[in-house]
Amino acid sequence: MLVLKFGGTSVGSIENMTNVKNIINDGEKKVVVLSAMSGTTNALVDISEFIRAKELEVALIKINELYDIYKKTVKDLLSDTFLIIEAEAYVNTIFSGLIDLLNINYSELLHNKIVAQGELLSTFLFSRFLFQENIKVALLPALDFMRVDKNNEPDDFYIKQNFNRIINEISDVDIYITQGFVCLDAEGTISNLQRGGSDYTATIIGAAIEAKEVQIWTDIDGFHNNDPRFVENTKAISNLSFNEAAELAYFGAKILHPQTVVPVRTLNIPVRLKNTMSPDSYGTLITNEIHGEGIKAIAAKDNIYAIKIKSARMLQAYGFLKKVFEVFEKYETAIDMITTSEIAVSLTIDDDTHLKAIVEELEKIANVEVDDYMSIVCLVGNTIIYHQDTPQLFQVLQDVNVRMIAYGGSNNNISLLVNTSDKKETLRKLQRYVFEHSDRLVLN
Ligand code: ADP
Ligand code: ASP
Ligand code: MG
Repeated sequence: MLVLKFGGTSVGSIENMTNVKNIINDGEKKVVVLSAMSGTTNALVDISEFIRAKELEVALIKINELYDIYKKTVKDLLSDTFLIIEAEAYVNTIFSGLIDLLNINYSELLHNKIVAQGELLSTFLFSRFLFQENIKVALLPALDFMRVDKNNEPDDFYIKQNFNRIINEISDVDIYITQGFVCLDAEGTISNLQRGGSDYTATIIGAAIEAKEVQIWTDIDGFHNNDPRFVENTKAISNLSFNEAAELAYFGAKILHPQTVVPVRTLNIPVRLKNTMSPDSYGTLITNEIHGEGIKAIAAKDNIYAIKIKSARMLQAYGFLKKVFEVFEKYETAIDMITTSEIAVSLTIDDDTHLKAIVEELEKIANVEVDDYMSIVCLVGNTIIYHQDTPQLFQVLQDVNVRMIAYGGSNNNISLLVNTSDKKETLRKLQRYVFEHSDRLVLN
């Protein structure tokens, strides 16, 4: 069976929902994972923020604005009177539920309940639309099978057991629809897989049913060689390896949730990226095969902190780095980049939850400086550190102030740390030096 995931834009208008229907309606049994309609999760996050700030009147205005959008969507999407009545009743229940939450004290649970409503709405309305089109559809509540453990990792055994049991019980169906993003936590309360998490839902389900392929349908024709939000003339890459895709997603390529390929990589289940608005474009196929050499793509990740740890006692000392790493281990904070000199070590983190405590502990053994508003620009490709074109990237040193470089940590990744204010220019200059450099060999 295939798992197909459609993102916010793909279900964000009646026209695009019709495209989705045409893509999935080929008589083959499949699982369809949907995001919230575009703009909805952002609006729900804002509503949650207004409730947290006790600006309840503004929260109510925002809830009603969203309510109006859904009332109109029901009318535009459905024509069958019974289905319209049913969908209106559902939408009314969701929005009166949101209004009721205004009277409850703010908590993380409240936030998680609010942001889950987008996927509940999109899947309900789309399933009714398919029903109207005489397609055999079943709506599977994600909370019946999707759960993470206390480390926020998917609870694979639980998911596999429950998802397979559910689809075996409901067998006379062509399309199983479920919500991306939402899940239960280890205590059984509503949670989510973080922003963009519907991609992750799709590959977690793909692994649970050992799918033939997982398809991520979005608003662009595949994985581009640079971030199209900041750089012109980026191009779709036809093939990526799991490792390349994992690095790019982890280092900020928004097209994929950072964990997307993890559940399917060891099972060798291909992930295909496709454009809902242009289904005939090839897209990108992610497998364990390696295609081409040299720099394939560039991505950037924001909200990075650079920590410089400087100690006179580091000179010719062993054991210093161990003490440094123990502090990060104690606070369960992952380090992304690291560079050292004789008297200092610089490293980066993106999780600032324990930054203050980490700095206080490090100050017991060294001088510590923290820089914020930093971005990691990451260049990825098979054996890039040996490739003849790679040195082109160092031309960027003459244009922007590069704070750190990690080269040689693996053969497939080179990372640069720059001020976030220089990120766009760095990405654009790299595009020119690395991909538009005329002698370059063509990849793929
Ligand atoms: P969806 O709602 O379908 O999940 P997203 O907005 O999460 O879509 O991801 C698709 C968007 O990711 C694209 O429209 C594009 O702006 C952005 N993006 C960032 N980096 C890349 C990249 N390297 N290749 C393609 N798209 C990228
Ligand atoms: N709707 C969620 C978000 O906007 C999940 C997703 O789109 O993948 O983050
Ligand atoms: Mg996304």
